[in-house]
Amino acid sequence: MEYEAVIGLEVHVQLNTKSKMFCSCGADYQSAEPNTRVCPVCMALPGVLPVVNIAAVESAIKIGLALNCSISEITKFDRKNYPYPDLMKGYQISQFDMPICNEGWMDIKPEGEPDAHIGITRVHMEEDVARLTHIEKPLTTPGGKSAHSHTLMDINRAGVPLMEVVSEPDIHSAAQAEAYILKLQNIIRYLGVGTANMEEGSFRVDANVSVRPVGSDELRERVEVKNMNRVRAVVRAIEHEIKRQPEVWESGGRVEMETRGWDDVAGVTIVQRSKEEAHDYRYFPEPDIPPLEIDPRWVEEITASLPEFADVRQARFEDEYDLSEYDAALLTASRATADYFEATVGVRDLSGEERAAFAKESANWVNGELARLLNAPEGPSEINDTKVKPEGLASLVAMFQARTISNAAAREVLEEMWSSGANPDSVVADRGLLKVSGTDELLPVVQEVIDNNPNAVEDFVGGKETAVRFLVGQVMKATRGRADAGVAAELLTRTLEEVKAAR
Ligand code: ADP
Ligand code: MG
Ligand code: ZN
Repeated sequence: MEYEAVIGLEVHVQLNTKSKMFCSCGADYQSAEPNTRVCPVCMALPGVLPVVNIAAVESAIKIGLALNCSISEITKFDRKNYPYPDLMKGYQISQFDMPICNEGWMDIKPEGEPDAHIGITRVHMEEDVARLTHIEKPLTTPGGKSAHSHTLMDINRAGVPLMEVVSEPDIHSAAQAEAYILKLQNIIRYLGVGTANMEEGSFRVDANVSVRPVGSDELRERVEVKNMNRVRAVVRAIEHEIKRQPEVWESGGRVEMETRGWDDVAGVTIVQRSKEEAHDYRYFPEPDIPPLEIDPRWVEEITASLPEFADVRQARFEDEYDLSEYDAALLTASRATADYFEATVGVRDLSGEERAAFAKESANWVNGELARLLNAPEGPSEINDTKVKPEGLASLVAMFQARTISNAAAREVLEEMWSSGANPDSVVADRGLLKVSGTDELLPVVQEVIDNNPNAVEDFVGGKETAVRFLVGQVMKATRGRADAGVAAELLTRTLEEVKAAR
């Protein structure tokens, strides 16, 4: 029997607000010394009261709007109870039946597959837990007891705003899951509400995967796969389940509802928890936080402040600057790069075909040489942190386009701008990089090359016109690459024709 995959993703996203979700401690837990971002609220001491961080709610609304959700006019928080040492209070403040955002969608363009439309079930806010580090190392405690392994606890992360985005089970392949994840990361970064970095743990994906016979619309038992810290791992884990589950069903077995962990080295998923061990979270309304009203006028303001997202911007770039889909996709992959590109084009006040040509050449430099420098291990990797500013790049591109400098010279100038922040005009002047294209300057060089290469001249006279190419090469050599090859070829041909006619 043929099977179809059914996948729903639950993604936890840390928000980069200044303070935590329910207290005023800094949310910058990664860079801080362990246990220095703590207070009675996030340490769960008795008698404290949580206060909702409204900036986190605003971020969640932004994401919800970007995902085409409806924003609740009233939302509330609930306690989700489970015992675990990383959960300070023994319960997590989350949202159960009245999340901030409901029922949206995301359109995706999976690699090598048709476009797809994925439903978003909900977006809600909760809080992160403390960070536990398990260490296998003999240790003597201050009390004199010794242990073979121990666990370090960092409460800095407890209470950091965590947003959860839940998709409908509308995803049917690993490629679709990948496209969904990449687009969600892109939206979060365009909004600037988080880093969406999987390796750092600020973007965590749980994949719910089941299979069913092709053509049926039943929902069979699913497994939930966790512990994937790269997009590639999610793709591989899903692929593994899509292969494993049909084999279970075909051999007369049943796929069990269970939590599985991804083992990146072995390339398999492994049972972690079965359904029998599943928690009953005993949700109930958080008595310390009154329901929160969200004013529709506030939502309107937020809507008006949303940026132009990557897909729309890419389409505009293709249209407005006449760029290829490939160039436009590269430029809009990050908002900073897209802004940088538009700033570069905007430096020169051009219109029509001139503007399109300048934009195309600017795109080549941003996606080409500048990207190469940014990808090099040393130096900055954020386009805004480089010493090459849009004004400088625009001057360089203009010189290159006007053919006043050669390709090799332009690259040399860019590297100098990159390392010293110099202005391109002065680099060109200081290093004498201006292209030699005037007849007055080039003719003596051409004459010299002809005098020094009698064999090539004889070849030409004998009818071998390709000899010109060799001679152009000699002119380039003599001018250290600064000669305009077209002008040189023209002058050479003219002079050689004269030599030939004189015979
Ligand atoms: P829970 O409350 O146990 O987390 P939910 O109903 O909220 O379960 O679903 C969690 C995720 O699992 C959602 O992303 C949903 O789309 C997905 N999901 C639900 N049923 C299935 C299924 N049969 N196969 C694959 N994914 C599923
Ligand atoms: Mg869930
Ligand atoms: Zn605190």
